[in-house]
Amino acid sequence: MHTTQRPVVSAGSPILAMARRAAEYRAAGRRVIDLTLGEPDFTPPAHVVAAAQRAAARPLGYTPTNGIPELRRVVRRTLERDRGLRRTDAEVTVGCGAKQVIFNAFFATLRAGDEVIIPAPYWASYPEMVRLCGGAPVHVACAAGSGFTLSPDALATAVTDRTRWVVLNAPGNPTGATYSHEAVAGLAEALRRHPAVMILSDEIYAHICYVAGEYVSIAQVAPDLSERILLVDGVSKAYAMTGWRVGWGSGPADLILRITAVQTHNCTQTSTVSQIAAVAALEGPQDLLTGRCETYRWRRDAALAILKRSRHLDTQEPDGAFYLFPRLAADDDVAAADALLEAGCATVPGSDFGATGHLRLSCAIDVATLEEGCSIIVATLGGNPAWSR
Ligand code: PLP
Repeated sequence: MHTTQRPVVSAGSPILAMARRAAEYRAAGRRVIDLTLGEPDFTPPAHVVAAAQRAAARPLGYTPTNGIPELRRVVRRTLERDRGLRRTDAEVTVGCGAKQVIFNAFFATLRAGDEVIIPAPYWASYPEMVRLCGGAPVHVACAAGSGFTLSPDALATAVTDRTRWVVLNAPGNPTGATYSHEAVAGLAEALRRHPAVMILSDEIYAHICYVAGEYVSIAQVAPDLSERILLVDGVSKAYAMTGWRVGWGSGPADLILRITAVQTHNCTQTSTVSQIAAVAALEGPQDLLTGRCETYRWRRDAALAILKRSRHLDTQEPDGAFYLFPRLAADDDVAAADALLEAGCATVPGSDFGATGHLRLSCAIDVATLEEGCSIIVATLGGNPAWSR
């Protein structure tokens, strides 16, 4: 039976585990700069908070599992405004963050042994979600030299008769990898030859892209594949609303129906107050997104300037998202992250993202603290022969 082959437990998120360790050090009175979580440090816009306050004062019962109608409507308008995509109401569903929508999609579609192609480095939750749903993650290594992007050839080589999904995440966590229009068109062309493969396009960092005019979704480039694309997005990163837990998926109506069916049996719906706040975020002024993107770019540059001083680190300049993913001189990234935590800076080992020998640093923190954290990293690695070139 399908369900009996699903693993009973998972290791839990390694990113959250490292953040917990940093919190324990702090609780014990140690000063630790925490560069672990992808957690924007901005507050949500005032009009969003006001909308939530008004909503919380009203009696609110259960609302539709696929999201309150106003939010589905605004999500559709946003997809049209930002991506030029026209979607019907039946093609949109709302969940407790992008994370739950992705999990529900895998849960609704994977049978035991089905394969999901995940370009590496990857967000640590993708392979765990696939395993929890009984599937088999298939990692495809993407080289730093090609900006950590998946090539059409590598994709085509990884596809088998068991492939159910391919995951695309741009700008990517942890590398910031982005794809040009041509690169996306190349992937779409490869996927046309494999009509059974569904495409998960995780666009949660779409608004944090440093290459002007470059962000492009496969849903825009290949409208002929729309029946196979699940586009996932949410308010967490763009609007600094991680804790509000609102994300959405847009895809073919039959898939959306199945995702929603899974949702009816776990959390029913995400918080109605949060959904009303998300409507305010999407409908309100959008110029804050550009301003925040500029702030992230400034922080990225400040952190890079310090990391580049080290002979023991090789750090690429990411084109999007708010992480840095330096390569260490040695492969033992877990030991390096442990040593850095002892020295007062918490990072996440690259092996948690499918790339040993790297560290992930989140730049979603004020620039002075970020610079201090990077200085600790440079000093600690430079002072230890184990990580010296
Ligand atoms: N997708 C990626 C690539 C992420 O990095 C994250 C959060 O770190 C998510 C999805 C989850 O987003 P949400 O907070 O909307 O669940």
